[in-house]
Amino acid sequence: MIQEVFLNQFGAKPELSYQAPGRVNLIGEHTDYNQGFVLPLAIEQTTQVSISKNNGQIFRIYSQNTGELIETSSPLDEIDLSTWAKYPLAVIQLLEIGNQGLDIAISSEVPIGAGLSSSAALECSVASAVNELLDLGKDRKELALLCQKAENTVIGAPTGNMDQLASLFSEKDKAVFIDCQTSELQLVELGFDEAGLELLVIDTRTSHDLADGDYGNRRNECFSAAQQLRLSSLRQLSIRDLDGIDASLSKIEFKRVRHVVYENARVLEAVQAIKEKDFQTLGGLMVLSHKSMRDDFEISTPELDTAVEVAMSSSALGARMTGGGFGGSAIALVKTENKQAITADIYEAFESKGFKTPSIFGVRASSGAKRLGSA
Ligand code: ADP
Ligand code: MG
Repeated sequence: MIQEVFLNQFGAKPELSYQAPGRVNLIGEHTDYNQGFVLPLAIEQTTQVSISKNNGQIFRIYSQNTGELIETSSPLDEIDLSTWAKYPLAVIQLLEIGNQGLDIAISSEVPIGAGLSSSAALECSVASAVNELLDLGKDRKELALLCQKAENTVIGAPTGNMDQLASLFSEKDKAVFIDCQTSELQLVELGFDEAGLELLVIDTRTSHDLADGDYGNRRNECFSAAQQLRLSSLRQLSIRDLDGIDASLSKIEFKRVRHVVYENARVLEAVQAIKEKDFQTLGGLMVLSHKSMRDDFEISTPELDTAVEVAMSSSALGARMTGGGFGGSAIALVKTENKQAITADIYEAFESKGFKTPSIFGVRASSGAKRLGSA
């Protein structure tokens, strides 16, 4: 338990503990920073944080995952970007807590660097805990946008606001439909359990790093296309606009735009399909989304393609890569009764192709960030 980790590290019980979950995105990829639509859900795996004030005007941050204790003095002028502690420190810097020193212990079950947003889970758990401990009075939306800002400006990963909103606002058995232009949210009851369905995560254990160039390149291509079309964002385009803009963009830019425009439409259709409990249609949309990421947005990998292709040929209703791409995880919507067979087929395909052994596990839509009891 995180309270014990804290006690072992700092020799006293923590004043307060929080947890925030990782997420998978059901559909709507690379649409968030284009002011579009996304449909993520929180997973059961969470990052837990225990925290106390200290009198030393110093930040002492311990991660059980890395086994490291990082110490730095306050106020935070410069953050050392070479350590994982940049995530909590960036959040604390933006919360503007002055000279108040803090002791923080962190422990996470969210696979790290697997496209399941351990970074947002870390940011949101720390932000929520500090906000409550120091009575800063920020609401969850403010915290989400602050955590996104930390990831963008301090850490340098140019991500949208999906991960943080999902980590803070999710609820059990629901997906979060987000309009990223307004950050408005709507919870959508999934009903997977009742329909005998389950969501599998296939973590390909090939890493991605969003602060690397590829994610940022895609973002820049989208922004540049929007600029050439004199639009404030690609959100303003609909499918019927695509014919008319073909000539104004390079072939690559047009493909990127086509992905974003169709993906936004698919999110809206997916929400409708879920409300109608039409999971075949949902599955079909997931596959179309994957093909669009593979062919138009070009962010998939042979491992992710294999996971999706094998899941589909082995009776999944739908499958797609999830998260920023270039590695990380895929998801598959499967009948619970077929889960074992599909899992076995994917392991076998990965082995025969000489890929790293993936990690495959079921996830349930779970609740967002919450305070933990002191026990
Ligand atoms: P993802 O969010 O998909 O897991 P990112 O590259 O965005 O991948 O974030 C992963 C990074 O977040 C790690 O490299 C590490 O720096 C940091 N991180 C996340 N969780 C922890 C943790 N529990 N302890 C230490 N660092 C963590
Ligand atoms: Mg991340």
